[in-house]
Amino acid sequence: MTSSSSRHMDSSAAATTTMPRPVVRPKRKKVLVDYLVTFRWIPAIFVALPLSALIHLCIYIGGVLASIKSEERRRREHEENVAKVVRRLKQRDPKRDGLVCTARKPWVVVGMRNVDYKRARRFEVDLSAFHNILEIDTERMVARVEPLVSMGQLTKVTCPMNLSLAVAPEFDDLTVGGLINSYGISGSSHIYGLFSDTVVAMEVVLADGRVVRATKDNEHSDLFYGMPWSQGTIGFVVAAEIKLIRIKEYMRLTYTPVRGTLKEIAQAYADSFSFSFSSSSRDDAGGDSKKQQQVPDFVEGMVYSPSEGVMMTGVYATAEEAKKKGNRINRVGWWFKPWFYQYAQTALKRGEFVEYIPTREYYHRHTRSLYWEAKLIIPFADQFWFRFLLGWLMPPKITLLKITQGEAIRNYYHDNHVIQDVLVPLHKVGEVLEFGHRELEVYPVWLCPHRLFKAPVKAMVQPEPGFEQHPRQGDSSYAQMYTDVGFYYAPGAVLRGEEFDGAEAVRKLEQWLISNHGYQAQYAVSELSEKDFWRMFDPSHYDHCRRKYGAVGTFMSNYYKSKKGRKTDKEVREAEAEAIVEAAAAEADAAE
Ligand SMILES: Cc1cc2nc3c(=O)[nH]c(=O)nc-3n(C[C@H](O)[C@H](O)[C@H](O)COP(=O)(O)OP(=O)(O)OC[C@H]3O[C@@H](n4cnc5c(N)ncnc54)[C@H](O)[C@@H]3O)c2cc1C
Repeated sequence: MTSSSSRHMDSSAAATTTMPRPVVRPKRKKVLVDYLVTFRWIPAIFVALPLSALIHLCIYIGGVLASIKSEERRRREHEENVAKVVRRLKQRDPKRDGLVCTARKPWVVVGMRNVDYKRARRFEVDLSAFHNILEIDTERMVARVEPLVSMGQLTKVTCPMNLSLAVAPEFDDLTVGGLINSYGISGSSHIYGLFSDTVVAMEVVLADGRVVRATKDNEHSDLFYGMPWSQGTIGFVVAAEIKLIRIKEYMRLTYTPVRGTLKEIAQAYADSFSFSFSSSSRDDAGGDSKKQQQVPDFVEGMVYSPSEGVMMTGVYATAEEAKKKGNRINRVGWWFKPWFYQYAQTALKRGEFVEYIPTREYYHRHTRSLYWEAKLIIPFADQFWFRFLLGWLMPPKITLLKITQGEAIRNYYHDNHVIQDVLVPLHKVGEVLEFGHRELEVYPVWLCPHRLFKAPVKAMVQPEPGFEQHPRQGDSSYAQMYTDVGFYYAPGAVLRGEEFDGAEAVRKLEQWLISNHGYQAQYAVSELSEKDFWRMFDPSHYDHCRRKYGAVGTFMSNYYKSKKGRKTDKEVREAEAEAIVEAAAAEADAAE
């Protein structure tokens, strides 16, 4: 079954009999927007790429200027900016003004939602000044940062110090505020959980202008557990203290090819990192203990087809080890290098291999190719000549892609394209891969394990009830092992020119998730009705926090923000009126 160089599940006969067949659809007639999408590479190369380079230069200069500010000045600016947020919130007149949200432009955010609530009446609060790293505290091992600090900005500062966020999501442009209030994950989440699990403290501005510090065990611990997944509908995070870990200069990465049915690939993926997991605890697994040798520091899986995948496990390594004679160093960050997902795929031909990648380059390995989405935007951008000539300009900024796409192309993507991350219990990965093959047929599929910790409250996202009584592979008494399964690309039906109903496919996926204790990442387009939204996410603790911290009546509700489609005036008025009634009820409750 398992050779030294690859894992081959000897079951090709079983594969053909049990493999779910993708749904066959009628052919679709091409329309104008198909051609606009086909030739999107023209504005992408001639407009988006040069402007992206300019933006990167501005960001770089901004970063240099920010880094020469003294810590004292950054702290002072932070206090002034918090005071501005408080003043702005106090200016709001509930009878005249809309519900509160941030002033971040919809085309600036990385997520794929339409952010339709920003096309209706609203009361915006500008958080754009909050982009400073306030402190890197190497004694407490925390980074105190403002919410608009991006992952690229942070790794640039921490990696040279051999430090990293415990969970450092791969894509450079993701921000701390978005990752806490929505969702965030990385290849180390099988140890540390989601991004929000690595937060030690949050400084939050509440609806009434109070500024509180919430930690796991202070008087605002309920707020601490209420903020993740709340989408900024309880309060504004204006600073966060985030756990740091010690790292080494290189990642020793093992690529293991796997062949078999989707269920067998899922099992090989689980075996790649969780063979002796239950014995390790949240903190000791990342240290220098013996257990670290058993549990890799980084894990990711890529499923390339219904019968092939490559599993990758990484362990931090010193420069001394990486540079030893005979070891191979791969600088994946160089602009002309093959795109990471394509390079990893070569393991299917080469067999298992090991190499060393500089740690920061490893963290951001999927940035240049936007995972694999860049192939759809500039189909030849992965070619050798393009990488050499223009690879250094990649990727086009998501912001510019959004600005240049227009409504027709955006709707086209909703219908003919899938970008969804779904979080499912590890033991369900095989099933969701089969579901995905049947309904979406999107490849590659990204697999990234993450622990889902049991919280002392009924948080929006929780492990399966009673999982600890029947622990499965990767589970411990305090956390269940989940996996982020990322479906991003044009579905097989679309590539074959068949009809495909993206909204219907997402609806089916959401129903599957509700039935299987899974969750949809909140940056992705959602088709959920309000009832189903609250069947997927537990409202108990969220509602408690909204009422206790005065968010009802001021901040939009989570579903109102998530709901797809332009809001009518009537909907907006109803939400505002409902908020005022609910706020009065909440005040009466508090007075009792
Ligand atoms: C191409 C692409 C690549 C991606 N790569 C990754 C990845 O590698 N890893 C990963 O984990 N995810 C990834 N994602 C998904 C990503 O996690 C989400 O988009 C996430 O929400 C962060 O995006 P953002 O920083 O733009 O946040 P935003 O979209 O700006 O914010 C997300 C939510 O949080 C709220 N919010 C933001 N700041 C605050 C604040 N200060 N206080 C209160 N509420 C706030 C916003 O109102 C919004 O509701 C990717 C998405 C795409 C499209």
